[in-house]
Amino acid sequence: MNRPYTIATLGSHSALQILKGARDEGFKTLAIANRETERLYRSFAFIDDVIGVDRYSDFMGLLGELEARKCIVVPHGSFVAYLSLDEHKKMTVPYFGNKAVLDWEASRELQREWLARANLKLPRHFKSGAEIDRPVIVKLYGAGGGKGYMFIRDAADFEVRAAHLKEAYTIQEYIIGVPLYIHYFYSPIANKLEIMSMDRRYETNVDSLGRIPAAAQEGMDVSPSYVVVGNSPVSLRESMLAEALRMGDDVVRVSKEICGPKGLFGAFCIETIITPDMQFYVMEISARIVAGTNLFIDGSPYSYLNYSESMSTGRRIAREIKTALLSNNLRSVLDDSSVL
Ligand code: AMP
Ligand code: AMP
Repeated sequence: MNRPYTIATLGSHSALQILKGARDEGFKTLAIANRETERLYRSFAFIDDVIGVDRYSDFMGLLGELEARKCIVVPHGSFVAYLSLDEHKKMTVPYFGNKAVLDWEASRELQREWLARANLKLPRHFKSGAEIDRPVIVKLYGAGGGKGYMFIRDAADFEVRAAHLKEAYTIQEYIIGVPLYIHYFYSPIANKLEIMSMDRRYETNVDSLGRIPAAAQEGMDVSPSYVVVGNSPVSLRESMLAEALRMGDDVVRVSKEICGPKGLFGAFCIETIITPDMQFYVMEISARIVAGTNLFIDGSPYSYLNYSESMSTGRRIAREIKTALLSNNLRSVLDDSSVL
């Protein structure tokens, strides 16, 4: 008899959502947790097994065991934060998603090319401090979760505060508007894009500066920082949903031209800022499940429209894997490096 597959992921980020969704779709579940979080993941009945490791980077040493246990790995934000691109590519354990997308996502230049080809509006990019003619945000490479980003008023401010930076960075036009993170799921089996949910991030201290009047801030040594500490739900003005869907469609279409026939599939997120003229400016794309979807473990207003049952992004991933298995086509939802 065929042994059932186990859905496995690293214990952090959106693991609870992914594994709850996997259990709801009938899979066995496994979390790889570190010593601090092991107890947390063991405390949930929907997680069948937990493997404890000292560091998340020890994950690579477990691959043989994961293969023996017939696991399918579902990556999330911590995979990108804790494992290198090289390590990702070396894995032959069945992996949900297309690893070719990682190169296009990891390089800010390639990512810009991808998004521009998909006709998304991008903030202006400045090659050097001297070119700056408006407020900008300076983003350090490799900074995760908005850490180390700087708001810069003008070229003179750049000279004083950023010109000395040793690490690599990019300079982007600062868009003033409402940040909105749109969570999508593209099904390669149904060839269909769905909007799963949306969130806005809660970032400190930029989201609290408005609590102190500008006049009172004058002379204080305070500047915005963008460290994410939480997320809150949003529903979008309905007249803007069509454009949100169009952006996702075009991102998927172009991905099939640039990273192999499979392109980008599964969960992804387009990070936008909406200006007063209701234009979406795109800051970035995340090519996998994002943590903002954790708000919707029980489903979102948007996923309810499609499913009339609790459908989180994590569960949607498991549903796609199950559909692929039932039609004897598991490979269609796995990276081509996967050995079955
Ligand atoms: P963690 O597992 O919490 O260390 O997070 C891994 C990566 O995901 C980091 O780059 C975080 O900045 C990002 N991340 C974690 N939680 C959130 C969140 N709630 N919203 C946005 N990004 C997050
Ligand atoms: P990111 O690492 O691109 O997700 O950006 C982290 C945070 O920095 C976002 O959630 C925004 O609050 C802010 N941010 C990034 N890019 C811009 C931009 N071009 N204009 C204004 N704020 C931005």
